[in-house]
Amino acid sequence: MDVAREFTALYGYEPEGVWAAPGRVNLIGEYTDFNEGFVMPLALPHTAVAAVARRTDGTLRVHSADVEGPVVELAADALAPRPDGGWAAYPAGVLWALREAGHAVGGADLHLASTVPTGAGLSSSAALEVVTALALNDLYELGLSRRELALLAQRAENDFVGVPCGVMDQMAAAACVPGHLLHLDCRDLSVRQVPFDLGAEGLALLVVDTRVRHALGDGAYAERRAGCEAGARALGVSHLRDVPHAELPAALARLGDERVRRYVRHVVSEGRRVERVVALLARGDVRGVGAVLTEGHASLRDDLRVSCPELDLAVSAACGAGALGARMTGGGFGGSVVVLAEGAGADAVGKAVRGAFAEAGFAEPRVFEAPASSGARRLPLAGAPQTRPFPN
Ligand code: ADP
Ligand code: MG
Repeated sequence: MDVAREFTALYGYEPEGVWAAPGRVNLIGEYTDFNEGFVMPLALPHTAVAAVARRTDGTLRVHSADVEGPVVELAADALAPRPDGGWAAYPAGVLWALREAGHAVGGADLHLASTVPTGAGLSSSAALEVVTALALNDLYELGLSRRELALLAQRAENDFVGVPCGVMDQMAAAACVPGHLLHLDCRDLSVRQVPFDLGAEGLALLVVDTRVRHALGDGAYAERRAGCEAGARALGVSHLRDVPHAELPAALARLGDERVRRYVRHVVSEGRRVERVVALLARGDVRGVGAVLTEGHASLRDDLRVSCPELDLAVSAACGAGALGARMTGGGFGGSVVVLAEGAGADAVGKAVRGAFAEAGFAEPRVFEAPASSGARRLPLAGAPQTRPFPN
């Protein structure tokens, strides 16, 4: 059944429209966003799809096909951040952020289903926020830009849900276009769409979801963030983005703290890796990107120290099976790996990763191909099917 029909069965009337927003995978530029550097995500084919209708009585009702439990009902004008808000805090937080920003948004009924794996570093949360934001923008005719919607969705996650994320995920979900990477400047949020048509090159991008979520991730993220801020302060810049790569050796020599030195080396060298990928793609050397990804993984593993055995194994098994390059993507300590491979060799790479995991006694990873897909959009109301290629 599609989400529009599910909406009708649930609420007893038809939705006004159906919207979709994708998960994302970041190709390169990890831990650069809060340092005001560059990132290069692409939209996944996996999406959160929501059927939505306005309500005139100021009530917000939300329901997810993917979560056991009844419809959650809230009063739009009484929404307040709560740390224990559950999944409904994501759509409710978007409505709250829109109203906080002074937009005339009343109530809504919303029913959604998502194919974005949750907690895998692929941003199921941003998909949920952005699909809600776009639906409310269209229904209440707010006329907000993709960038404004992304910022409001980030505000919802930061201040309502209580997760201190950067804005990459929401910008990717809102602004990606098919066949392109989103080259995003996290300082001014300007974007460039960089062509990334791997099919035409005979290449494939694979995502390996290790299915591992290490609890240590949350505290470690805050610690890396604080370490980067300490590095910027010690170097007399507002953000590490302002340390040119050519000045990295001199900058490192000025840092007394060994840990801060490693973090600075990662962030500044990662900024350079984003530039190298941009340059490689501009001259059509897509295969050359692979080696940069693998270098990036070594930096995340050895300097930032946010990898884990499952991520390292996925990278080494993929590269050992002939992939052009691979790296962990997202915050680390579990989550996913992104792999650049020859299209003809992609199956063998996936098989090798699964085999290596079985041999190591790890849970079976989920491996899928990730063509650069569309950002958030409105779907036709009739027949918007939501297939579930794998259970969440
Ligand atoms: P990620 O964004 O990397 O997938 P997060 O922890 O940021 O991981 O977000 C996952 C959370 O988003 C889930 O715990 C849930 O609260 C919410 N979420 C994601 N997808 C859905 C869905 N289909 N239905 C309900 N809630 C969802
Ligand atoms: Mg998230």
